[in-house]
Amino acid sequence: MTITPIIGLEVHIELKTKSKMFCGCDASHFHVDPNTHTCPVCLGLPGALPVPNKVACEWCIKLGLALGCSINQDSFFERKNYFYPDLAKGYQITQLQKPFAINGKLNIDGHEIRINRAHMEEDTGKSVHLNGETLLDFNRCGVPLVEIVSEPDIVSPEEAKKYLLKIQQIVRYLGISDADIEKGSMRCEPTINLNIEGNFTPLVEIKNVASLTGVMTAIQYEIDRQTEQYQQDNITKNSTNKTTRGWDADKNQTFLQREKEGSADYRYFPEPDIPPINFTPKQIAEIKSTLPEMPDAKLAKYKSLGLSDYDAHLLSEDSKFSSIFDKIVTNSDFVYAKFVTNLLIGPLKTISLDIKKINPDFFKNLFDNKDKLSSTAIKQLILDSYNNGQDPLILAKQQNLFQVSDTNALEEIAKKVIANNPKAVADYQKNPLSIGFLVGQLMRESQGSANPILAKEIIQKLLN
Ligand SMILES: [Zn+2]
Repeated sequence: MTITPIIGLEVHIELKTKSKMFCGCDASHFHVDPNTHTCPVCLGLPGALPVPNKVACEWCIKLGLALGCSINQDSFFERKNYFYPDLAKGYQITQLQKPFAINGKLNIDGHEIRINRAHMEEDTGKSVHLNGETLLDFNRCGVPLVEIVSEPDIVSPEEAKKYLLKIQQIVRYLGISDADIEKGSMRCEPTINLNIEGNFTPLVEIKNVASLTGVMTAIQYEIDRQTEQYQQDNITKNSTNKTTRGWDADKNQTFLQREKEGSADYRYFPEPDIPPINFTPKQIAEIKSTLPEMPDAKLAKYKSLGLSDYDAHLLSEDSKFSSIFDKIVTNSDFVYAKFVTNLLIGPLKTISLDIKKINPDFFKNLFDNKDKLSSTAIKQLILDSYNNGQDPLILAKQQNLFQVSDTNALEEIAKKVIANNPKAVADYQKNPLSIGFLVGQLMRESQGSANPILAKEIIQKLLN
């Protein structure tokens, strides 16, 4: 029996604009006293007039462009009517017929996932269930929300996870949202049904999935459940019933919530209080010009420097990290790129770096002197110089970290070590592998400053 999952994802991204979508209220709502960031507009009081947030609209278009979408120059907002306690005005302002962005795509390991749309809307308030009572907090009501709807091109829970991580990465590269799934600033509703040898199981939308693992587990649960249901019911004709199921993270299973409403039930109509929105080609081009280099482009660039897949992925993973690398490495010298990569994903990975404090000269100076410094010293010096802003070469001098590569000086020390250790010399004559002891003595005499490779060569030369 061939089973192909047909998975689509609706992703909501909460934008981190200063103010809300249609009013001037502060849009922050984490750790804020309930109902302190509200006004007649976001509370939906009669007669209040919404005014669209320009920055939010531009960010939605920016995200659309980053997802390879076409932008609708002419668009408008619509009312989606439904009753829910956390949406006091009885409708949500959203976009249906003319979303800002349409027809994009996202490449997941060579598999293209089509994106139907990215549209602008507003968030709802929050119901807080406490001691058997339900309290309402409207601080989140009216916060700008972008909804990204994929076509059902995703074929597995793993691919769904990769898709979400990539959306998250892009959004963070653009700096328009924290896209934090646990905090709810990125939310996801999978839709799923199965193609079982040409027969389709009923479509299910899953709600209330609040973690990345949850998305994968919920999808896998539905694949198993729908397969079992199909075998039990022995469905032979295609079904078009749509249902909404909730995700119970404690029980790790979905449960039936309701038969799905069609869009007709929402009675969408154009928002009469907001005029149609027009973005000229010039304005769209201006927004496009603010797009940073995106993760895929970064990855390709790092690989072209000669860096391994592993290194290139680590560097392009988040925009801050890659910006730091790009600030330091401005040429295409592979040896230098690898040297910097090793420091960034090594000692510097352990601290939270501030790009303003990164001095490319420090890396260059260390690189130019890498033969005179031990690798341990280099790691410590880059950390110290980052923390105190001093040139690592000055620090190296102060701490006497430069290795002595002066042959004459090392020979003098070597002669002394040989004269003082007749037994070790005799051991060496019998077993050349025991040279380590003499090299160790020389390193000690030089207080660790000798270049160990050179020291070994000199002792060998003197004893042979
Ligand atoms: Zn408000």
